[in-house]
Amino acid sequence: MNTQTYLNNFLTELHERNAAQKVFLQAVEEVVRTLSPVLDQNPTYIKEKILERIVEPERIIAFRVPWRDDKGEIHVNRGFRVQFNSALGPYKGGIRFHSSVTADSLKFLAFEQTFKNSLTTLPLGGGKGGSDFDTRGKSDTEVMRFCHAFIDELYHHIGYHTDIPAGDLGCGSREIGYMFGQYKKLTNDFTGAFTGKKPNWGGSLLRPQATGYGVAYFAQNMLTTKEDDLKGKVCVVSGAGNVGIYTMEKLTELGAKVVGFMDYDGSIYDKDGINEEKLAFLKELVFKRRGSVKEYAAKFPQAQFRPGQKTWDIPCDCAFPTACENELTGTDAKLLLKNGCTLVCEGSNMPSTPDAVEAFHQAGILYSPGKASNAGGVAVSGLEMTQNSMRVYWTAEEVDAYLKRIMSSIHESCLTYASQFATQGDYVAGANIAGFLKVADSMIDQGLV
Ligand code: GLU
Repeated sequence: MNTQTYLNNFLTELHERNAAQKVFLQAVEEVVRTLSPVLDQNPTYIKEKILERIVEPERIIAFRVPWRDDKGEIHVNRGFRVQFNSALGPYKGGIRFHSSVTADSLKFLAFEQTFKNSLTTLPLGGGKGGSDFDTRGKSDTEVMRFCHAFIDELYHHIGYHTDIPAGDLGCGSREIGYMFGQYKKLTNDFTGAFTGKKPNWGGSLLRPQATGYGVAYFAQNMLTTKEDDLKGKVCVVSGAGNVGIYTMEKLTELGAKVVGFMDYDGSIYDKDGINEEKLAFLKELVFKRRGSVKEYAAKFPQAQFRPGQKTWDIPCDCAFPTACENELTGTDAKLLLKNGCTLVCEGSNMPSTPDAVEAFHQAGILYSPGKASNAGGVAVSGLEMTQNSMRVYWTAEEVDAYLKRIMSSIHESCLTYASQFATQGDYVAGANIAGFLKVADSMIDQGLV
């Protein structure tokens, strides 16, 4: 059977077995389609049924999370942890708290995480967890009660050498603090079983900034291949959360001009560009007051608030999706290209729909998938684990130097593997192939488990 027939059969069966899991199927399909030259050269992966094994999570834990709100009323949410692949190390990946969370969305995120973690060069397996609990509009005590209830079950399944959760959408250092506290109480053990901790109790400096800074470093690396850099580039991001804000901060530091960003309520177009003072306001607004970007336009009147609108119609040189999956459609992609955008560097996981990706490839612009360009967050989580094991704290400069090195090495891997398998300059193929080979070879080494 030739590789193409094998892949078609594989995908048909994958669809049959996971019929309702749309985003998971999308993520797997995107990876598998780029692996055909690898399978052609190494039929062992077909014989060992690596694809069939790599798309099946090692374990999915699903549980009930009952908690009481401030009025004493009972609520029941669903909790999950998808322990996807431990070939390279203990399961590692964030916890997402958002009403959209389902077993399907976490399966997709854990699959992506496996490849992303492989790219970081660190010994990390892939996992992801979360709940359909929405932190928006909840008081601190409600969030605490929920997080404690979530850990009351999850603590059985995680641990320093087993599975190390961190934050993701809706889960920042406040939530990690409550989860870590309950985990410590139940196990009577102060360990690095979570990352994204605050520095006073075991966290790494620069972990909050790491994903966003890493995205900007990756974009800088991409531009270097064209003998260009970020100086003077007009940029837009999407989500103004943790990833978005620190992407904007580093882009600005590197000389770019960020003119657009957004949240659930709408987007901001600030043609003068963000600066240190505006960033400080935005951080206070988002991280401390958990307010809406609407207030930015009230504070800085030259900025325009556009209710319910995304940022992709704003003319820019470089675009950075930093919100969530499938946030950038084929129509958005065409608009970006029409307005002269020449680089798209993903800060969120699978933000571009398949037709958007196709449009970027057709146009031949610089385009990098999230699993490569947003790996800085989990990479610094890996560094947090190392510091915890050594019982030391590194300075921000030390962590930043590691982060820069890791982002450059991921960038280089993407290009090396892309050219080795005849897909020169294709960051999607390069990231998928580099991530896949390390996991696949390790699975073969460890036998049929
Ligand atoms: N949630 C982040 C990601 O998507 C970070 C995961 C981690 O630090 O474990 O990569």
